[in-house]
Amino acid sequence: MAGGDVSFHAPPRIDVEADVVVIGAGACGLVAALRAKAAGAEVIVLERDRSPSGSTSMSSGFVPAPATRFQRAIGVDDDTPARFEADILAKSKGLSDHRLARLASRTIAPAIEWLANEHGLEWIVLDDFLYPGHSCHRMHAVAERTGAALLARLLAATERAGIPVVTNAHASRLFVREPRVDAVEVERANGNAEFVGLRALVLACNGYGGNRALVRRYIPEIADARYYGHAGNTGDALLWGQALGAECRHLSGYQGHGSLAHPHGILISWALMMEGAIQVNGQGKRFSNEHGGYSEQAVKVLRQPGGFAWDLFDERIHAFAQSFPDYREAVEAGAVRRAGDVAELSATTGARADELEATLAEVRGLSQGRGADRFGRDFTGKPPLKAPFYAVKVTGALFHTQGGLVIDDDARVLDANGVAFDNLLAGGGAACGVSGPDVAGYLSGNGLLTAIGFGYIAGATAARGRLVLG
Ligand SMILES: Cc1cc2nc3c(=O)[nH]c(=O)nc-3n(C[C@H](O)[C@H](O)[C@H](O)COP(=O)(O)OP(=O)(O)OC[C@H]3O[C@@H](n4cnc5c(N)ncnc54)[C@H](O)[C@@H]3O)c2cc1C
Repeated sequence: MAGGDVSFHAPPRIDVEADVVVIGAGACGLVAALRAKAAGAEVIVLERDRSPSGSTSMSSGFVPAPATRFQRAIGVDDDTPARFEADILAKSKGLSDHRLARLASRTIAPAIEWLANEHGLEWIVLDDFLYPGHSCHRMHAVAERTGAALLARLLAATERAGIPVVTNAHASRLFVREPRVDAVEVERANGNAEFVGLRALVLACNGYGGNRALVRRYIPEIADARYYGHAGNTGDALLWGQALGAECRHLSGYQGHGSLAHPHGILISWALMMEGAIQVNGQGKRFSNEHGGYSEQAVKVLRQPGGFAWDLFDERIHAFAQSFPDYREAVEAGAVRRAGDVAELSATTGARADELEATLAEVRGLSQGRGADRFGRDFTGKPPLKAPFYAVKVTGALFHTQGGLVIDDDARVLDANGVAFDNLLAGGGAACGVSGPDVAGYLSGNGLLTAIGFGYIAGATAARGRLVLG
């Protein structure tokens, strides 16, 4: 069975039952499971993969949150949920769903403090660079600064809490007696079907980045680009929602990225651009304000001849980048090329030396305060680039879709009339996010923001449903 099916009949049998069933063992699903369990519910997490990873483990693991004790510990004491909400809305030019932006910006700090207090996830706040659109340092990460470590810690917490995470369990069909979901059919690795009864269902199976047909239908501009998120995110939540008449919004919204090492497929952090790196095309020419945002940069890079660009920087930025595990991986893979001077840079990139020289001279002047950048970037405040240079060939990619099922403030899925389904909840990439309808609306961190924030709400609501209905 392809997935995303809905049956309006009773399931043939029930093999196992739980108060709360969660589909997907990424950040959203595991946080929802932990919260529901803490509220007294019996929870089962269903995960299609043999070993949970999801986009969460592929991510950098940076979670934006305002007014946390972790920020205060490093002297950031002027952040507020309202300020964060304003940043989210500014990035999307006001096109994000305002209610969801408010909900997310008010929920995420309690969620990550709860994960710290109850489940030992200690957070650090990254204060060595600011991502485009964030007005203060609010990006939280676990000590290893990777999504893989974040997921590992969530999985360990789930295990300590005694929550079964059933792997090789592909949820393929929902059994619905409107307005309630009664059961889920699960395909096991051996081809057998199992039927799981439930009182509340949390859809935490992310978006449709791994479903080429859906990407082509809703986001044609990125359909031919590489999808760099988790392959198993094939849009089941969206398909179930559509079959049930759920309200789906901003399906053309997504997180792109304009700096994926090519052909190595390794993320080169945008922090390098914020630190002074530039992007040029194969002709050695800049083509954009690199500080606009890495998400929209995906499309700008793909529009360049050949669909690629070069990240250019110098020894200082190369040293700065060593703190990023992805970057170290890129160095090991040979994606980061060193050039002693412009002639070598020309040989590396294939761009003409005089073009590269002109670009570097222009940027040098801008960083010394001479003139205004025609693309609008402010180069002052960082030293000019100087030899030796470093270059990474990059392309644009789709990381993660941002549209999805519209939820209410309790993370219940809403139908097209704005009425909440009784016991169907969603969060993370399965739900409509806070990035609006296009690629430029993605503020860094919007992904884990709604995965953790909405998962936290969904878990509590799902467990409450158990008390009312059980
Ligand atoms: C390279 C990269 C870097 C990123 N960096 C960041 C970052 O630093 N900060 C940030 O905020 N966001 C980042 N993101 C986005 C972030 O990873 C996602 O927004 C977030 O992980 C979504 O979490 P989730 O729980 O909704 O989905 P996932 O973590 O993808 O989990 C969904 C799970 O559902 C499972 N599943 C799917 N369908 C089914 C089914 N039918 N039955 C059973 N299981 C199913 C999948 O196998 C998967 O394990 C990044 C993304 C990428 C690709």
